Amino acid sequence: TVRVRFCPSPTGNPHVGLVRTALFNWAFARHHQGTLVFRVEDTDAARDSEESYEALLDSLRWLGLDWDEGPEVGGPHAPYRQSQRMDVYRDVARRLEESGHAYRCYCTTEELDARREAARAAGRPSGYDGHCRDLSAEQVAAYEAEGREPIVRFRMPDKAITFTDLVRGDLTFAPENVPDYGIVRANGAPLYTLVNPVDDALMEITHVLRGEDLLSSTPRQIALYEALIELDLAKEIPAFGHLPYVMGEGNKKLSKRDPQASLNLYRERGFLPEGLLNYLSLLGWSFSPDEDIFTLDQMVAKFEIGDVNANPARFDLKKAESINGDHIRMLSVEDFTARCAPWLRAPFAPWAPEDFDPAAFAALAPLAQTRLTVLSDITANVDFLFLDEPAIDETSWNKAMKEGSDALLATARAKIAEADWKAEALKEAVLEAGAEHGLKLGKAQAPVRVAVTGRTIGLPLFESLEILGREKTLARIDAALA
Ligand code: GLU
Repeated sequence: TVRVRFCPSPTGNPHVGLVRTALFNWAFARHHQGTLVFRVEDTDAARDSEESYEALLDSLRWLGLDWDEGPEVGGPHAPYRQSQRMDVYRDVARRLEESGHAYRCYCTTEELDARREAARAAGRPSGYDGHCRDLSAEQVAAYEAEGREPIVRFRMPDKAITFTDLVRGDLTFAPENVPDYGIVRANGAPLYTLVNPVDDALMEITHVLRGEDLLSSTPRQIALYEALIELDLAKEIPAFGHLPYVMGEGNKKLSKRDPQASLNLYRERGFLPEGLLNYLSLLGWSFSPDEDIFTLDQMVAKFEIGDVNANPARFDLKKAESINGDHIRMLSVEDFTARCAPWLRAPFAPWAPEDFDPAAFAALAPLAQTRLTVLSDITANVDFLFLDEPAIDETSWNKAMKEGSDALLATARAKIAEADWKAEALKEAVLEAGAEHGLKLGKAQAPVRVAVTGRTIGLPLFESLEILGREKTLARIDAALA
C-alpha cells in the first residue's frame, strides 16, 4: 500500500511551490488508493509560527485537498506536529549514537570555516572532513574540559549511495560529496536532517515526492534509513521522486519570497481552487498532449509519477489565468454567482450596501461568466449597474473620446433613444450611427461604452445596456456630451 506525506514547515505564507508538492502527493495517494499523511515540520522555533500553521491549514482546506492522517484528523502515528514529538527524536538520536552511527562533534564554527577554506584553496572537497569521527576518550575529555558543546553528527558510510529517482532515474552520489552531517544542535534541538527521515520511517512512508531543492539531502536520508533499519526503527527505504524546479520571471527559480509565488495572491484575485490546481498540476506534468483543462478527478485517474518531467517548469501567469477562466465557464451560473459574492461586497465593492444581495446581479452573471478569468474582475465589470454614475477610468476615456466622438455619440444617442430596448436593436442603432460617421461597429461602440460604463473593456455592451435600462443609459450619454 502507498503511504505518502506532505510535510511543510509553517514559515511564512503558503506559496505555489508548496501547493504543487501537496497536489502531486495528494493525486498520487488518491490514484493508488493510498494514504496521504500531513505532517507539520515545526521544529525550527525561530522561524515557525502558529499563524503560519493556521494559514497552512486554511489554505489546504480552501484548495479542497484532504488528508487521511494529520492535524485535525488524527491517525495511528499522532501527533503529526513535530514540535510535539521531541521525545521521539531524542530517543532515536541516542540510539544512533550508541550504535556508532552518529558521534559528537566538537568543532567550532570558526574551525570548520578555516578548514573549509583551506580545503577549497587546495582543491579538495570542502564538506566536513571527519575531524571528530574517531576521537579518543582523552580528546573528548579535553574538549569537554574546554567547555565546548558538541553537536551530534551522522556518520556517512564510506560508499557511494545509489537510488532510482521516480522522476530522474538512476542517481549516484559519491561519498566525498556527501560528508557527515549534523542531526542535533549543540543545544539539543534535533534538525530537519534527523526528524524528517525519522518520521518518514516511523510513519511508514513508502514514497517521498518533493521538490528538487531537496535532492541533495536524499543520499543522507538513505544512509540514515539504513541505520534505522539496522536498529529496527524502519522497515524499508522509501522510493524518492523529486519534482522539477519552477521558474518564474526572467527564467529565475521561483522563490517563496517572490510575490508571484504567494498563494494568497491567487486567492485574493479570485482564482478558483480547481482552476489553480489544474494549472499547478501542469508544472512538471501533463494530462494529455492536446488537453490542458481537466477536473481533479480526471487528474487523479491519470496521475503517474513516472510521467513527471525532470526539466524545470515555467510559471506562466497568463496561462494560469486562462485555465482559470475555463474553469469559471464550467461552473453552473448559480455556483458562479455564489462564488462572486465576496467581490460584490465591501471592501471590494464599496458601492454595495451592507445587505446587498448578489442575486441582484443575476441578469449580468451569465454575461460575466463568459468573460472573466479571475473572479475579482467582477467588481469592475458590473459596478456600472449599481453606481449612480459610472466610475470613469481616465485612460479609457481619453482613448475612446477622440475627435468626432461627440458627433458620433450624439447620433448614437438619437438612434438608440428610438430603438426597441433590446440588445439586438441597440446594436443595430449603434451600427447605423457608426455608418453615418464612416466607423465600423468596434470604433463606434467605444465612446458609448465609456460613457455608460466608464471603461473601454467590459461585458458585451448591448446586453449591458439592455439590463441598465433606457433612462440611465441616455442620461449617461447626455452627461458625457455635456
Ligand atoms: N519541511 C520540509 C520543507 O518544507 C519538508 C521537505 C521534505 O518534503 O522532505 O522543505
